[in-house]
Amino acid sequence: GNELAGKVAVVTGGASGLGSAMVERFVAEGARVVVGDIDAGKGRALADRCGDTVLLRVTDAGDPGEVAQLVDLAVREFGGLHIMCNNAGISGKMHKSILDDDFADFQHVMSVNVLGVMAGTRLAARHMADNGGGSIINLSSVGGVQAGGGVMTYRASKAAVIHFTKSAAIELAQYDVRVNCIAPGNIPTDLLAKASSTMSPEKAERMTRAMRDMMNRDRPLPREGTPEDVAEAAVYFAAERSRYLTGTVLAVDGGTTA
Ligand code: NAD
Repeated sequence: GNELAGKVAVVTGGASGLGSAMVERFVAEGARVVVGDIDAGKGRALADRCGDTVLLRVTDAGDPGEVAQLVDLAVREFGGLHIMCNNAGISGKMHKSILDDDFADFQHVMSVNVLGVMAGTRLAARHMADNGGGSIINLSSVGGVQAGGGVMTYRASKAAVIHFTKSAAIELAQYDVRVNCIAPGNIPTDLLAKASSTMSPEKAERMTRAMRDMMNRDRPLPREGTPEDVAEAAVYFAAERSRYLTGTVLAVDGGTTA
């Protein structure tokens, strides 16, 4: 298609997982994309696959100064910024209980998942407000919608993304800057593997299997979701056909939170 022809997007955490599926769908719709990711190897592989429509810049999304450079790069190299996808996110450690939680992990998760989204939203909105508007897409999660045991820091960070998105949408509407969230269900990517990486391999495998069983039980649609399922929602929010949507949360979770 060419739904995003002439558009420029920034995708944080775009080198792999859900982010790279979004980048590939944006490019397929005619957009040019700047990818900001801490993983230079995966980022370069994606950029090579996409040719001169994708630029990679190694970026820590939790550092507002680095996010500012990402936005500047899009404007300088591709002549503008119409779509900002604040996708970079981390799970933090897989604490079984709040009693085991640690504050260093809390701060790290909050800096990437919350500060990163706030910085990306503000910096993109500043450009978009002066240039006729745009679409900002933030990644929340089923964990930000539903409370539950385990990964409580992650849940809190993703709930913050929802509330921040709604408040930003209200304020930025006057500039025709739309701000929406996607709340994916659990989708096999490296995210889960990283959460269990501090455990022994046996324990991590048990945990991963238990979580997958739980997810399968709680999800009405029988099949597991894919990164492409989430990328479709991102294209929708990026495109003109969602022009009257702002401040919304779209659950792409097979009915899990229904
Ligand atoms: P992933 O771990 O597979 O990929 C995340 C990407 O972000 C990686 O390329 C990684 O290098 C990059 N990244 C990590 N920290 C970064 C940082 N500080 N700065 C820049 N880049 C960084 O994760 P994913 O599953 O693709 O998740 C993408 C987003 O979707 C996250 O915000 C996540 O919380 C959210 N999400 C994922 C799921 C899921 O089940 N996979 C469910 C709900 C929400």
